Parts: sequence; structure tokens; C-alpha cells
Amino acid sequence: MNHVIIGNGIAGIQAAETIRNLDPSASITLVAAESHPPYCRPMISLMLEGQMSSKMLAIRNPHFYEDLHLQAVSGKRVTDIDVDSRTVKINDDRLISFDRLLIASGADPRPLKIPGHSLNNIFYMRTISHVEQMLMEIASARHALVLGGGGWWDSRRRTA
Ligand SMILES: Cc1cc2nc3c(=O)[nH]c(=O)nc-3n(C[C@H](O)[C@H](O)[C@H](O)COP(=O)(O)OP(=O)(O)OC[C@H]3O[C@@H](n4cnc5c(N)ncnc54)[C@H](O)[C@@H]3O)c2cc1C
Repeated sequence: MNHVIIGNGIAGIQAAETIRNLDPSASITLVAAESHPPYCRPMISLMLEGQMSSKMLAIRNPHFYEDLHLQAVSGKRVTDIDVDSRTVKINDDRLISFDRLLIASGADPRPLKIPGHSLNNIFYMRTISHVEQMLMEIASARHALVLGGGGWWDSRRRTA
């Protein structure tokens, strides 16, 4: 069986591990828009606070993909799915065929469409890359406004 998984968040990697456990000979291809190895997304707030580096957020060892014998297509985005021909298209125009496809692409922040939305220094916080962008500006920032948030992340940033 030829499996393709879109996304290397917790859902994607848990699925890859489960498929490998159930079927040692399955072909598994994992396409991930982010080039970082799997990491703990909720803990990116600790990176923003300077308590952790991006490397410390890893939730699997560096050889995870090799150990699982899967083909990792990192830093590439699926741009199209053709269910009739059972292929996904990658943003470098490559086509990857599948018998089974798992879409584990999570969610992206919905950009605000309000006056001023394209001003400089407006950040979203979902990925390591978002935090890296914020960290580059924070040193020279004098005022910050936080919109939204909830739960664990919200309580942490209010105390930061
Ligand atoms: C700051 C923060 C704090 C959080 N705190 C908590 C918490 O305390 N408790 C809790 O339960 N949850 C929390 N969450 C939410 C939690 O992180 C998500 O529910 C979880 O990450 C979802 O996992 P996932 O694998 O479904 O998706 P994701 O982690 O979003 O992973 C999906 C992956 O798919 C990739 N992808 C998307 N589209 C494509 C494409 N077209 N092609 C290739 N790859 C693609 C993305 O780049 C991403 O890496 C928090 C999230 C954030 C950002």
C-alpha cells in the first residue's frame, strides 16, 4: 500500500508511526510545508520568551524519518489533489501518487482583513518561523498589542 500524508504535525507523524506499525512494508511519503523536523507547536511560546531554542522543541529524534523508512518531502507544499488519478501535486510541480491519502494539514491563522492589515510588524503565531520573525523585531519594539489567544498560550503571554 502506498500512503501519502500531508503535514508533519502531531497528527501526521502519529499516523505515519501507526501505519508503519501496522504495515512494515508500506510505502509512506510525508509532505511537509515546514522544513523543521516534527516539533511541539504549543511550546513555541517558550521560544518567544527565550526559554527554549527551536531545536529543543523537537518531539522526535533527528533520525525519525529514516528510522520509520518513510520518504520525507520537507519544505514543500501540496498545491493540488487529484482524486481521480490519485496524485498530489507539490509546489515544485512534482506529482506523487497514492493509494491512501491522509490530509493532516492542521490549520493556518486566517489573516485579518481590516484597515492597516498590511502594515509592518504584524505577526501571526503558529510556527517556529513566525516566532523567529517576531524575535527579530522584539528587541527594538516599544509597544506591543496582542489580539486573540486563548487557554495556555493566552495565560503565558499575559504574564510575559
Ligand atoms: C501557540 C500555540 C499554543 C497551543 N497550545 C495548545 C494547548 O495548550 N493545548 C492544545 O491541545 N493545543 C494547543 N495548540 C494547538 C495545537 O498545536 C494544534 O491543535 C496541533 O498542533 C494540531 O496538530 P495537527 O497535526 O493537526 O496540525 P499542525 O500542528 O498544524 O500541523 C500541520 C502541518 O501541516 C503542514 N501543512 C499545511 N498545509 C500543507 C500543505 N498544503 N502541504 C504540506 N504541508 C502542509 C503545516 O505546515 C504544519 O506543519 C496550540 C497551538 C499554538 C500555535
